[in-house]
Order: sequence, then structure tokens, then C-alpha cells
Amino acid sequence: MNASEINVPDALPLMGVKVTPFRDYGHAIEAVSGVLGSGSKVFSAAINPEKIYRASYDSSVRELLNRAEICICDGIGAALAVRALYGHQIGRITGVALFFELIRAAEKRQWKVFLLGAAPDVNEDAVSKLKQDYPLLQIVGRQDGYFNDSESVVDLINASGADLLFVAMGSPKQEVWITEHREKINAPFCMGVGGTFDVVCGKVEWAPAFYRKTGTEWLYRLVKEPSRWRRQLALPKFVWLLMRYKMGLIKDF
Ligand code: UDP
Repeated sequence: MNASEINVPDALPLMGVKVTPFRDYGHAIEAVSGVLGSGSKVFSAAINPEKIYRASYDSSVRELLNRAEICICDGIGAALAVRALYGHQIGRITGVALFFELIRAAEKRQWKVFLLGAAPDVNEDAVSKLKQDYPLLQIVGRQDGYFNDSESVVDLINASGADLLFVAMGSPKQEVWITEHREKINAPFCMGVGGTFDVVCGKVEWAPAFYRKTGTEWLYRLVKEPSRWRRQLALPKFVWLLMRYKMGLIKDF
């Protein structure tokens, strides 16, 4: 079943990967709702400059990201790249914000949720916080992200009857795990959410509204966690890659 048959807009090619041009969060939620009723399985990955740059030299990451049926435009750099290359303005759908939107929808529509990933205390605290903030939310299972036996984790997810599986094991580990096991996982919707559970339980602060609105969460995070500077070296490399696409020196698909 391709993306358009399940009410997901066709993806735009973007520098070797792709992005799904959702208009806004409501559009993304309706697409997920369509997936749940369709009998199909969808994997959602987040696309940002760091991942685009990594995919440019690591074909295994590129293939992983291109196997996702939904690729949300998570970073401002990805949205700017779409504009620079195609002249389209597409909405930014960040992983953390979409997670909260899906949790709200899940509480309202009684979708069953499974939280996989993060350190044991973070996973436990994130579940407690969500139960406190969304009392009608059905959290049907949880498991931290430091396990050895993937088969038993898959069994746990399937026994829970989850509709939505959120996987917070960092990138690309979570995408690797989801694609390796997705055939056996019954949950119709799986999404890689990186450090979102750390934000949910308050261990990591969500960037204040100013940074979220201006797309500069990466700057806020760099100031808060300077040890991440190495990862952010990907940003100037991403800009250089974008310039080469723009000049026609590299072609998409
Ligand atoms: N993590 C995990 N299992 C692992 C490695 C990492 O569950 O084997 C968790 C880690 O505890 C943290 C999250 O994955 O909660 C990674 O967060 P980060 O913000 O680094 O994600 P990214 O920026 O890569 O999306």
C-alpha cells in the first residue's frame, strides 16, 4: 500500500531523502488516523539537517530513512532546503510537538500507546507524567531502551495490542531497530522520537517557545548541552551540501 492510499501526502525528494509535506499538525494526525483504520503499517521518521547530511555519505542511513512511509520535516533547515530547491513553503512538524499532538489524539480517540526507549528511570517517569497529564490515555506497555533481547520486546509490544509505538533510542539506532523488526511488530504506527521521553519527564527542557517558533531549538540545545557541539558540526556541512544541490552539482533521485 503506498502513502497516498493511506491518506498520507506524497513525499517530496529532498537531497537524497524525502519529506512528507503536511500542512499542519491536524493534517498529520488525520493521516495517522487513516493509517489506524486501514490495516496497513506505517513507520514515521523525522528529517533534519543532521540526518540529511549523514544520509549523504552513509547509504545505510539513507536507505533506512527512505523506507519510512512518513518523513516529517522536523528541522527548520529541512524546511528552508525545500523552499530553496522547490520554492514550496512546507510546514514544520517537529518530533516532540507531533508526539504531544498524537498523545492528545490518543487520549481522545482511545488509541493504545506503547513507549519504548530511554533510560529505565526516564521511561518510567515519562509514563507517570503522561498518565498524570492525560488521565484517560491508554498506555498499554513500556520498556526502556537498554535491552538485549529484541524478540521478547517485540512479543511485549504485540501482547499489549498497541496502536501507536513510540521508539526513543536516538538516531539512527531507533530507525535501525524499527526497520529490523517492523514486519513482526503488529502496531500499525511506529515513530522514532529521539530524546522526547527525556523532555516528557523533564530531564531535558523543551526549548522555550521563542526558539521553537524561530526554528532555533538546535541553538538552545547547544547552549544547554555544549557536549553536543560535535553533532552540530553537521550544520555547516549541510549548508554546503544544499548549495551544491542548488547549483545543480548534485541531483536528487
Ligand atoms: N537511548 C536508548 N537506547 C540506546 C541509546 C540511547 O534508549 O541504546 C536513548 C537515550 O537514553 C535518550 C535517547 O535515546 O533518551 C536519545 O536522545 P537524543 O536526544 O540523543 O536523540 P536524537 O537527537 O538522536 O534524536
